[in-house]
Amino acid sequence: METLCLPAGEESLKLACGLLKRGQVVAFPTETVYGLGADALNGQAVRAIFEAKERPADNPLIVHVAERKQLEGLCQVTAAAQRLMDAFWPGPLTMLLSKTSRVPDITTAGLPTVAVRCPNHPVALELLRQCGLPIAAPSANRSGRPSPTSAAHVYEDMRGRIPLILDGGACRVGVESTVVDLSGNVPCILRPGAVTAEDIAAVAGECTVASSVMRPLKEGEAAPSPGMRHRHYAPKAKMTVFVGENEAVAKAIIARYEANENAVILAHESALPLYAGRRAYSLGESPEEGAHLLFQRLREMDELGCSLILAQGWKAEGRALAVMNRMARAAAFDIVEV
Ligand code: AMP
Ligand code: MG
Repeated sequence: METLCLPAGEESLKLACGLLKRGQVVAFPTETVYGLGADALNGQAVRAIFEAKERPADNPLIVHVAERKQLEGLCQVTAAAQRLMDAFWPGPLTMLLSKTSRVPDITTAGLPTVAVRCPNHPVALELLRQCGLPIAAPSANRSGRPSPTSAAHVYEDMRGRIPLILDGGACRVGVESTVVDLSGNVPCILRPGAVTAEDIAAVAGECTVASSVMRPLKEGEAAPSPGMRHRHYAPKAKMTVFVGENEAVAKAIIARYEANENAVILAHESALPLYAGRRAYSLGESPEEGAHLLFQRLREMDELGCSLILAQGWKAEGRALAVMNRMARAAAFDIVEV
């Protein structure tokens, strides 16, 4: 199959809509990462997403809509969900809601809940509006690869597997949406993203974070969200994350760097002068900049063929939880506090 990669515009959006209506798969930009979309209510179309990604069948998809009205008949929108939608949609917040039989089991991997989100990106919103379908869309990477934050990343992973990629430039956020479970009395974050527990608590009164967000699952432990059970992206190189002040981190990183043949460094922008003469790349300064750059940098490090990545992280709390959740998984939880 030939894969077209076209700048998002009137013509390419029309083409994308036609493909989606015929049950085909189209990649499109959102504010978090690129999505691999198909008609969420068409089981065959959804199957094509799983095939293109080589995604395990027990990992459910997020259903994207342009507006709340599109959820009618698909799931139970509770009062708590309404309030969170008022506050954060369109935006990087995915909610788990009880589904109706109209949502095929393949979309939710057989779960009684469906994950729903309204993305805050002009191309995604225009596509959802024009095709009028709820669109199931996981991240547009092949399973086990970093989520794509540019159309070029999608092309690397999906060339020959899907007919069309809409290019809308780099994704602003850079990590996947916050996933929140609303089935209990208190909202619980299963996957951290740009909408934080503090943000949700400001609207809902309280919000907890699943403990498995920053540690590996124990043997036999049930995953709160199926995606957490699966091997997340790990670079080909071994990775260690260091957290602390620039100088202390640099001391620890340089010691490891000098002891290894083929190491690279990912550090905060302000710390780069401490690594002069060594292979060091910026992860930005704030946790948000880190989130924006992380997946791109990990793809670049794979291309460099390095064997060890020494990365400076952030304290895993508040706004930094999203990027640290991904860094921890990429490093197989090898995190050193200095
Ligand atoms: P992705 O779209 O690739 O970011 O993956 C979607 C994420 O949402 C995965 O980690 C899933 O495990 C999670 N998810 C989707 N639907 C559900 C659900 N019904 N219950 C729990 N987690 C879900
Ligand atoms: Mg994904």
